[in-house]
Amino acid sequence: KNCYRMVILGSTKVGKSAIVSRFLNGRFEEQYTPTIEDFHRKLYSIRGDIYQLDILDTSGNHPFPAMRRLSILTGDVFLLVFSLDNQESFREVQRLKQQIYETKSCLKNKTKENVDVPLVICGNKGDREFSREVQREEIEQLVARDEQCAYFEISAKRNTNVDRMFQTLFTMAKLP
Ligand code: GDP
Ligand code: MG
Repeated sequence: KNCYRMVILGSTKVGKSAIVSRFLNGRFEEQYTPTIEDFHRKLYSIRGDIYQLDILDTSGNHPFPAMRRLSILTGDVFLLVFSLDNQESFREVQRLKQQIYETKSCLKNKTKENVDVPLVICGNKGDREFSREVQREEIEQLVARDEQCAYFEISAKRNTNVDRMFQTLFTMAKLP
């Protein structure tokens, strides 16, 4: 397989686009620009073979549930983002994780426990430690004993852990 599709989901303003921009351009914007839906394509040449990584950056509010279901169905790897200073955004990630497993297990005719979906959950805005709302224990509860799921605390602003997080996502997805 030479073609991979990464889907980034999470509430609005948690920093999804900032993470993508960090990864693709090494830049950070203080100013908020609402995303409707952004699509990025990155091509890699590895030992003479061309690989394509498509990144779908979504809006966060979902007036069209069918659209979100479709992005889940077509995604190979998932990045679920919440903001460490926003408890509601963490609850949204819990719901999203559930929805991804349900949708994918339904598609592959498997049970939720053994459906194979590479997924990374990421708590962004780690630089705002002083207004932290989501505690480590509740995050551990969500990711513990789930081998398909990794967790990173990152800051797109300070560029903390962003590369390490993407590396893990690629390894989990068995990208070359
Ligand atoms: P999205 O709606 O999830 O795509 O969120 P954006 O990427 O547009 O970011 C929303 C706001 O949060 C913007 O004003 C960003 O500058 C800010 N932001 C994003 N990442 C960070 C971060 O790691 N730390 C801080 N302090 N702010 C961030
Ligand atoms: Mg955005």
